[in-house]
Amino acid sequence: LRDKFDVVIVGGGAIGLSTAYQLAKGGLKVLVLEKKFLGGGTSTRFPASIRSFFTVKENVSLAVENLKMFKSLSKELKLNLLFHRNGSLAVAYTEKEVEILKEAFSVQRSLNVKNVLVHPRELREIVPDMNVNGVLLALFNPNDAAVHHDAVVWAYAEAARRLGAKLRPHTRVVGFDLRAGKIKLVKTDRGDVETSIVVNAAGWQSSDVAKMAGIDLPSKPQKHEAMATEPFKRFLNPTLFSLHSGIRLNQTLRGEVVGSMKSEGKTTLSIQSLSLESLQRIATEAVKMLPALRYVRVIRQWAGIYDMTLDGSPILGFTEEVENLVQANGFGGLGVAFSPIVGKLLAELIITGKPSIPIDSFSLKRFESGKMLNEKTAWLG
Ligand SMILES: Cc1cc2nc3c(=O)[nH]c(=O)nc-3n(C[C@H](O)[C@H](O)[C@H](O)COP(=O)(O)OP(=O)(O)OC[C@H]3O[C@@H](n4cnc5c(N)ncnc54)[C@H](O)[C@@H]3O)c2cc1C
Repeated sequence: LRDKFDVVIVGGGAIGLSTAYQLAKGGLKVLVLEKKFLGGGTSTRFPASIRSFFTVKENVSLAVENLKMFKSLSKELKLNLLFHRNGSLAVAYTEKEVEILKEAFSVQRSLNVKNVLVHPRELREIVPDMNVNGVLLALFNPNDAAVHHDAVVWAYAEAARRLGAKLRPHTRVVGFDLRAGKIKLVKTDRGDVETSIVVNAAGWQSSDVAKMAGIDLPSKPQKHEAMATEPFKRFLNPTLFSLHSGIRLNQTLRGEVVGSMKSEGKTTLSIQSLSLESLQRIATEAVKMLPALRYVRVIRQWAGIYDMTLDGSPILGFTEEVENLVQANGFGGLGVAFSPIVGKLLAELIITGKPSIPIDSFSLKRFESGKMLNEKTAWLG
């Protein structure tokens, strides 16, 4: 670790590795420090859906460019990411939820996203086995997609490595040496590293890392749990999102139906501790939406942790208080999906100072200036 780097990235998840790849592609000397194994955080916990329905315009803008990047990403990174456009279907059961769907619909339309509002009687044309009782309206995004989460992490790691980035798993960042408002040294449990810029991509532990530099992030960890059924013949194409219960359901290419929701009952932040209440709730909500699932066995339950900001949108860009610290966190249930565009924009910010999509509105200072990006769909998967 004795070398000096242009950029040190804290966190070897999808966000940190994508940023490392883009920076290395731009010719910078990059080091990724990961306390566990690469992908050992939340990024390898769930088959990633890539959705574009949001109520905040800035989030839709990122999603649109991001989906464009995914089209050729397998080729660019030289690994099949199993990217496929299965679509997404968000379902509303109350008037309040209908308002959120309509808001997302309009914001998407203002950015020319192809989407459609679907009435309950037409829903079965999209998901023939769906229970439409109680549904008031749905928002269908035919171009939304899914991708293999592990593949994204491995592909970015390998591609970054090929370009000369140094990846150091099992190396924990324990502090920073600051001088005149700048980080000079990154302290790790395996020695210190000198750097010009630090990127905080530590997922749900980003607020701990920020604290090491004296900065408070308005983010909190939020535990989610997931279950998978035994695999069976594909019957569900789009990813389903219930705005009522918050469940997200999709069928993987291998045939398992996977559902996830916010953790219920007594639980700790440990991903090893799982709650029966969560499993029961996920299974109940899944059967409510797709009654055929009542005959299928659950084979697995597991947990993962969201990094949730106060307004449900990510924090991106340089930090005023510590001028060479870049934030890349607060992704809730979207970090794997957003990793291509975020890596690209942050690399552009660091290398040229001008990201191709402006990201000023995602800066940490929005929480002080009151210009929050209140994303009403953030609590969904
Ligand atoms: C149930 C569930 C479903 C989800 N579904 C989706 C989905 O459909 N689509 C989607 O895009 N996303 C989804 N997500 C969210 C997604 O997994 C996260 O947003 C994403 O993984 C965040 O990536 P990251 O790189 O920011 O964080 P992480 O992958 O958590 O990476 C951060 C890394 O930083 C490391 N680290 C922390 N502190 C330190 C330190 N001090 N020193 C060194 N290393 C450190 C951690 O070990 C970790 O590996 C889901 C999450 C869950 C739990």
